[in-house]
Amino acid sequence: MKVPLIDLSGQHQALRTDLLGALARVIDSQQFVLGSEVASLEEEIARYSTTEFAIGCASGSDALLLALMALDIKAGDEVITTPFTFFATGSAIARVDAHPRFIDIDPRTYNINVDLVEAAITDRTRAIVPVHMYGQCAEMDKLLDIAGRYNLSIVEDAAQAIGATDRGRRAGSMGQLGCFSFYPTKNLGGAGDAGMVVTSDESLAARVRKLRVHGGATEYQHDEVGLNSRLDAIQAAILSVKLKHLDEWSDARRSKAAIYDELLSEAALDGKFVLPYVRPQARHIFHQYVIRAPGYRDELIQHLSQHGVGNKVYYPVPLHLQPCFDYLNYRQGDFPEAERASLETLALPCFPELTEQQQHYVGEVLAKFVIAEKASG
Ligand SMILES: *Cc1c(COP(=O)(O)O)cnc(C)c1O
Repeated sequence: MKVPLIDLSGQHQALRTDLLGALARVIDSQQFVLGSEVASLEEEIARYSTTEFAIGCASGSDALLLALMALDIKAGDEVITTPFTFFATGSAIARVDAHPRFIDIDPRTYNINVDLVEAAITDRTRAIVPVHMYGQCAEMDKLLDIAGRYNLSIVEDAAQAIGATDRGRRAGSMGQLGCFSFYPTKNLGGAGDAGMVVTSDESLAARVRKLRVHGGATEYQHDEVGLNSRLDAIQAAILSVKLKHLDEWSDARRSKAAIYDELLSEAALDGKFVLPYVRPQARHIFHQYVIRAPGYRDELIQHLSQHGVGNKVYYPVPLHLQPCFDYLNYRQGDFPEAERASLETLALPCFPELTEQQQHYVGEVLAKFVIAEKASG
């Protein structure tokens, strides 16, 4: 048997007629960039994320960049974030010439360790960018409290977490701005790159709207230098079809995770694996199901791959150790939990159409590994 890490064919097959209809509608309309398809997706995403405004843009990476630009974050400013994330989180901060100030993670959730944030605040700190890693919100209450006391903005990197909640509040709705990615493999994925910024602040929304079209409030009139980061209508039309199924897909991911929890509980109790930890306040939407295999992650990767089980390491190199951030003068050992996570974690196949049979097979392959590990002492 082969179990891919992710396979979207089942999802697309079921929606094929609707997706092709959406494509045809856009092609017939000849409105390929922004326009009514984008405007209606923006309305739907604002409603879905319980925010007042949503502004479509070219990618999740651009959503982060636009959010920081809208807050006027610039050279000399510091922005607190996690080193254990996709590159875009750190690059957005660097792209506005601000200084990324990394904070170690909570080893259970892989999210920023909120207890370490306050000590990292300086008089140059302007914002915090928590990442809702793997589909589970960071501890927003504590971050909101700190941000309130120090007058900092929060930009949520909710690229992996659309539909996740923290104490019932939707990912993206808790900070000043929230950023989504619709990269094809995200829980809500387009047929190409796409992203969105959400906010309930009217003036920030207007600023993002302007910045995504070269900083022009009206055509050929540029108050400031922005980006070309418009959302194209084909993506919007496709995402609108898929959004109607997002909750059902997230529920499916959650039940796949529960099945893994059960299948792997023995190995976990045996101390061989650490399973995902879900905070009681959080609705985790399992963008990834990530286990920890301390000391033998790389052997496990080999074993899974030999047996046809897809797997991937998110993320093998924490941001503070990326060559492009040498100038920040971080060193190996600065963020031990992020570094440990990068050596020990591994994502297993987890997507809505994954079958129970496939999951049982993954469980058997993992059990075989545990037995072999035991035998070899
Ligand atoms: C995917 C992702 C992004 C960037 O999204 P793109 O649409 O690929 O540009 C940013 N942050 C995190 C945590 C992500 O997972």
